[in-house]
Amino acid sequence: MSRRIIPVADVSAMPDIAGAPLTPRGTLVDALVRPLRDLRISVTDRCNFRCVYCMPRAVFGKDYSFLPHGALLTFEEIERAARLFVAHGVDKIRLTGGEPLLRKDIERLVERLATLTTPDGRSLDLTLTTNGSLLARKAQSLKNAGLTRVTVSLDALDNALFKRMNDADFAPSAVLDGIAAAQAAGLAPVKINMVVKHGTNDAEIVPMARHFKGSGTVLRFIEYMDVGTSNGWNMTEVLPSADVVARIAEHFPLVPLEAHTPSETAQRWGYADGTGEIGVISSVTRAFCGTCTRARLSTEGKLYLCLFASAGHDLRALLRSGATDDEIATAIGRIWQAREDRYSQLRGSAAADTASNGLARVEMSYIGG
Ligand code: SAM
Ligand code: SF4
Ligand code: SF4
Repeated sequence: MSRRIIPVADVSAMPDIAGAPLTPRGTLVDALVRPLRDLRISVTDRCNFRCVYCMPRAVFGKDYSFLPHGALLTFEEIERAARLFVAHGVDKIRLTGGEPLLRKDIERLVERLATLTTPDGRSLDLTLTTNGSLLARKAQSLKNAGLTRVTVSLDALDNALFKRMNDADFAPSAVLDGIAAAQAAGLAPVKINMVVKHGTNDAEIVPMARHFKGSGTVLRFIEYMDVGTSNGWNMTEVLPSADVVARIAEHFPLVPLEAHTPSETAQRWGYADGTGEIGVISSVTRAFCGTCTRARLSTEGKLYLCLFASAGHDLRALLRSGATDDEIATAIGRIWQAREDRYSQLRGSAAADTASNGLARVEMSYIGG
């Protein structure tokens, strides 16, 4: 019998949308005075990789039941929701998953989202995170559809190690071809995400830095996080970003760079010889909740206010209920206004346990990274 494990442990109550409408003015802030700026949309919970830290095969195996097609938000529903988020202040949208390039006709969704503009007339920063396996085929059509840029995940250059980490026999050369195609298509700057697992792929830090130095890409090292419940996370497998920077600086001197925006998650470092930059995302050792402006829309249309949330608000039900745009915008506004999430700041404390209410956290492949 097929089992449905994880995705969401509970559904948060929707706010009351009767009464005075909350008209979007692009100035919404949450309970900790954090504006709403970024929206991450998971377009599929499926993936052709089984990365050990995200979708371990023991959990996401043959018996795992992914969402049926009818449960997924349609492109029309995603566009409608995205338009209302943009009216509330979102100016950056990232498509993710699962593997977003597995969603059929993803370019058609990109086309729709690329037409959205902010209340003051700016076009969106419209990007996508991918494992790169299908990117060589799709980079140009995504660019033509209006995608601004792309982030590609790559955890190792070593063939055997990369295959062990993705557990699906994909070679790094396929991802490197995807990165080259994205650069050729002008999806710039291409960012490359490497999740560092201490004792697994940390020996790849310097070879990765050497490979991408001077290539026009921005390589970012992500601390291995305790997202979801299925990856068996352990603090001993986290290599602090400070160590990553020190290891690289032994070979290539680095200078600190200013953040582009206050809510940027990566700390930037430039190569002292001017051949580009790297970033480190210290989700575990240096929480950045204070500037977190991100909302997440899951594959089946639940709105999550934190990567580590255990429950989401059922926006799909509202989208399919006949509610007007004003009513949905009011719901989104009220949900954001009540937001107090700051899991990374509280990590390990009793307050974090209280915040999760003993419920299982949602999985990364469902909510999107
Ligand atoms: N499949 C796409 C990919 O891998 O790029 C998009 C979805 S994936 C969930 C988004 C990002 O989350 C990837 O860069 C991935 O490496 C990262 N990620 C997944 N699990 C993680 C974990 N436990 N800790 C840190 N990063 C993680
Ligand atoms: Fe798939 Fe991305 Fe998760 Fe790897 S990190 S299993 S590629 S969703
Ligand atoms: Fe944002 Fe939650 Fe991550 Fe903190 S833990 S930075 S609130 S997603």
